Amino acid sequence: EKFKVLGISDEIIRSLNDMGFEEPTPIQEQAIPEAMAGNDLVGQAQTGTGKTAAFGIPLIEKVRHTGGRIQGVILTPTRELAIQVAEELNKLGQYANVFALPIYGGQEIGRQIKALRKNPQIIVATPGRLMDHMERRNIRLGDTKILILDEADEMLNMGFIDDIEKILKETPESRQTLLFSATMPRAIQNLSQKFLKNPTFVSI
Ligand code: AMP
Repeated sequence: EKFKVLGISDEIIRSLNDMGFEEPTPIQEQAIPEAMAGNDLVGQAQTGTGKTAAFGIPLIEKVRHTGGRIQGVILTPTRELAIQVAEELNKLGQYANVFALPIYGGQEIGRQIKALRKNPQIIVATPGRLMDHMERRNIRLGDTKILILDEADEMLNMGFIDDIEKILKETPESRQTLLFSATMPRAIQNLSQKFLKNPTFVSI
């Protein structure tokens, strides 16, 4: 089994079987062992390459044995992507007792506060709405072990840089950080230099 040699646990292998994933895509093959070793990572990959599972599998492995507060944070540019990523994580994590909650603008804030009471280990959030929750003290990120920027170039194009920097500063410096982007303009290189620790670069 090609997934098994990447060091993935049996519970997640079982989900991968359910999902019909037979072997890792190239970005998964490169990113999963690096991220599972605890390294920061910059991944250059487009949508459709399997990037969600490339960061989702190491994320679930990292948070699955920890309880309580939010341990994993994913930032996405749009609500559609937040929902889609949370769905895939919930499939990947279904046998590992991991629950991911999407948090996005446009949805009633009271409904999100209620959903937060179910104690998700992972939130998948658009930056503006996450800032909103942080300012209202609904969400605290002090226990974050791993933070992922998905479609980072899109988030910068949408003007989220200040929110992203504020969010990153609310998480512990000891966190692991993964950044995925389709393109690598200067602003993305600056962001990764500022917030990632000696990242491995993978590209497909
Ligand atoms: P993504 O790039 O993460 O949006 O993934 C694109 C599509 O490929 C999604 O529908 C995934 O469910 C699917 N996918 C991801 N990894 C694999 C894999 N190893 N084998 C088959 N399909 C996959």
